[in-house]
Amino acid sequence: MKITPIGIWGGYPKANSATSSFLIEHDGFHCLIDCGSGVLSSLQNYLPLEKLDAVVISHYHADHIADLGSLQFSRIINFYLGNQAPPLPIYGHMEDQENFEKLSYQDQTMGIGITEDRVVQIGPFDVSFCRTIHPVYCLAMKFTVGDRSIALTADTEWRDELVDFARGTDLLISEANLYEEHLGKAPGHLAGSEAGKLAKLAGAKQLVLTHLPLHGNINEILDAAVAIYDGPAELAEVGKTYEI
Ligand code: ZN
Repeated sequence: MKITPIGIWGGYPKANSATSSFLIEHDGFHCLIDCGSGVLSSLQNYLPLEKLDAVVISHYHADHIADLGSLQFSRIINFYLGNQAPPLPIYGHMEDQENFEKLSYQDQTMGIGITEDRVVQIGPFDVSFCRTIHPVYCLAMKFTVGDRSIALTADTEWRDELVDFARGTDLLISEANLYEEHLGKAPGHLAGSEAGKLAKLAGAKQLVLTHLPLHGNINEILDAAVAIYDGPAELAEVGKTYEI
């Protein structure tokens, strides 16, 4: 499988960029992971929108869902142009019923519930979930094909359960929204050192950092991660493809 960062920012996007989002592909199946601000624009550099087969949403904060409405409009415009397409499945949790219901739009997109105790088959992927610690209910996710896996923390502060969840993964994509001086002071997010600790304890084979802050020098976050994790680690780079 391969995965491509579509955006890397937490909260809101820098100019001409997008909030944290990834496109994961295998066997011609294309799944978007989170759909925040700027994602719909950035995604089109890598995939025509009508080729998207599924979307998975980690939680309903704006920087993970802001472009869902535009994605739904793209489907209905395509429909009015005479291009019939089956409803696009959008997977999200049902702990927030109001936002879950917004995943379904006319016959163009269809919300499908996910929970942390059930593995779902999305195209060629087995996808499992783990609750994170964040101001709203949020799910980390792991995409598995055969003996390969990619785990994404979504938004979270430190949670021991994430170590087991990411155990032995080929690629850990961890949020790293905090500089070390904010560790323990900003709820709901990880510092670079914690992302490094998670990769180390889980035995992840590779670490990519995302959901990065807009201020400061983000290389300091990578430095904090590699001070703890010995394996290959880097900041997510939009458009770079990771083959697993
Ligand atoms: Zn969030």
